[in-house]
Amino acid sequence: MYFIKHKQLSQPTYVELCHHQFIEIVCFVCIIFVFTTVKLECLIKSPIEELIMDVMSTLESDKFNSLRIDLHSHTKFSDGGLTPQELIERAVTFQLDVLAITDHDTVSALDSANEYIQTNNISLKLINGIEISTAWNGFEIHIVGLNIDRNNPQLLELIAKQQLAREERATAMGEKLSKCGFEGVYEQAKSLAGIGSITRAHFARVLLQQGKVSNLQAAFDKYIGKGKRAFVKPNWCSIGDAIAAIHHAGGSAVMAHPVRYGMSTKWLRRLVVDFKEAKGNGLEIVLPQMNNEQRKLMLSFCLEYNLHASMGSDFHHPSKWSDLGRNLRMPEQVKPIWLLW
Ligand code: AMP
Ligand code: MN
Ligand code: MN
Ligand code: MN
Repeated sequence: MYFIKHKQLSQPTYVELCHHQFIEIVCFVCIIFVFTTVKLECLIKSPIEELIMDVMSTLESDKFNSLRIDLHSHTKFSDGGLTPQELIERAVTFQLDVLAITDHDTVSALDSANEYIQTNNISLKLINGIEISTAWNGFEIHIVGLNIDRNNPQLLELIAKQQLAREERATAMGEKLSKCGFEGVYEQAKSLAGIGSITRAHFARVLLQQGKVSNLQAAFDKYIGKGKRAFVKPNWCSIGDAIAAIHHAGGSAVMAHPVRYGMSTKWLRRLVVDFKEAKGNGLEIVLPQMNNEQRKLMLSFCLEYNLHASMGSDFHHPSKWSDLGRNLRMPEQVKPIWLLW
């Protein structure tokens, strides 16, 4: 029972508080307790959260503007719009210091790109790269290989298998599109791809040219995207196969654009765990058009799983939305992938 001292009386005695007064005091104490606890929890952050908060404030720092680096780009040797020479010229125009060419399942652009840089005495540092398509739990995951030996036999063997898988999928996709009433799409996509890797982007362009769809995205949404009428499950290698081939070629293996697979955070974490177990080196955590939540999540994955960080525009064509080296800044708290070179 709770008592309070009553000062008016000559002899010290205790007056019992009314029942409702007692309840009021208890409630007041409880409210104060809950309020201060919640406030304190908001103020106390885990070390990782603190790092992330710091990163958010240093993203704009001038310190990281000194070097212009883009570690993900495409040429006509896959689904890019420019020749290797045109891409190098664009990198010079955009004042890039470092550029990686990472075509889909091919290294064919690298010889002419290196030769062009040498003969024209261009100061751009070219990183020999590749983007390998892999299959993981029903998803198509892209693994970028950076700083590779483009003549490595194990890598070339994997590339040959991937090209076969591309060819098989392309013919099967052509047949499915014929059944949709669209004739000759495979032949036109093949001639558009030329000697480069044939991709669904070529099919999308043909469907657009033929007026079957109103934009490229619609081609994926209606016909060739996952689960659509003309979709063909590809026979890609595993994540482990791609990482092993990149390592045989002396390169670093980076998971391309993790935020673009349309996965929940739970699945993304599973993917990162499997990638790490397969000895992957880094995550591509800086790309144009990412929101703050995505930046924080990618950064926390790098810190939690001790992975290096990469950045790239995934440049295909000049466009309003993104271009070579634009909007790319490496956060200070992560280890950049180039520390491995
Ligand atoms: P593939 O490697 O043959 O599956 O072709 C995929 C390529 O198509 C990607 O690298 C993108 O350049 C391009 N693409 C454009 N929109 C989409 C989309 N909605 N889904 C998948 N790929 C797309
Ligand atoms: Mn592409
Ligand atoms: Mn990709
Ligand atoms: Mn790409």
